[in-house]
Amino acid sequence: MENNSNRYFFRLSFLIIAVLIFLTAFVFLTARFFSLQTYRIILYAIAFILFFAVMLFLTGFIWIKKIITRNEKNSNRKTVKNPFAAKLSFRLFMPFLLAVSDLINYNKDEIRRIYINICNEYIKTGKIKVSPEKMLVILPHCLQNSKCTVRFVEGIDGCTGCNSCGIGAIKELLNKYGIRSRIATGGTAARKIIQDEKPGFVIAVACERDLSSGMLDVQNLPVYGIINERPNGPCRDTFVDINELEKAIAFFSLKENAE
Ligand code: SF4
Repeated sequence: MENNSNRYFFRLSFLIIAVLIFLTAFVFLTARFFSLQTYRIILYAIAFILFFAVMLFLTGFIWIKKIITRNEKNSNRKTVKNPFAAKLSFRLFMPFLLAVSDLINYNKDEIRRIYINICNEYIKTGKIKVSPEKMLVILPHCLQNSKCTVRFVEGIDGCTGCNSCGIGAIKELLNKYGIRSRIATGGTAARKIIQDEKPGFVIAVACERDLSSGMLDVQNLPVYGIINERPNGPCRDTFVDINELEKAIAFFSLKENAE
């Protein structure tokens, strides 16, 4: 699955970069043969802007490729810390890639998955350790068994732990670490929760679409994303890997660090 995601990511990246290089070359050549001086200057200016855009995109692309290659090889080498390249990747290259894949309907979830993985990898390099009070876990409502009658208003405290879905185990895990949680009915609700709760760090569980759009929107807050499993189709009786959730909590938790 991850190999497929990587392949789609590379294909779309190469396509965009090839189109930009073609446009740059085309404008350069057009400028070369135009007789009117003004047109020539305008075209050179456009060519320069396009060339600059290609350079920025290439920087973002190369940085992300390094992280993907490192992950593919399961290398222990640390993620390349390059704040400039990271900023380019997260604020320019990946949003553009996501928008294009959305626009042409090209393996959207695969590209979103790459974005989420890269964000997660980068956040891990930040040596972030937060106290339980500052950490917030946002869960999608579809983790709850669709036949369950318990109504969650804020957190998942109302769960009776009948084990018909994963919420009971998640409740136990969060209680163990003393971390609060909130249930979100979608991306907009999740953003509202973040606004209201003002956490210092968020672990969000959701589908590729909600996670990637949420992570794009709240770039000033560290958000670690975990994609839910959806064997019953979208938004119905979904699951989350509890081990992955615990690993993320332990990794960023100050309490765990102190133990
Ligand atoms: S584990 Fe909790 S949320 Fe899930 S079905 Fe049982 S009571 Fe409802």
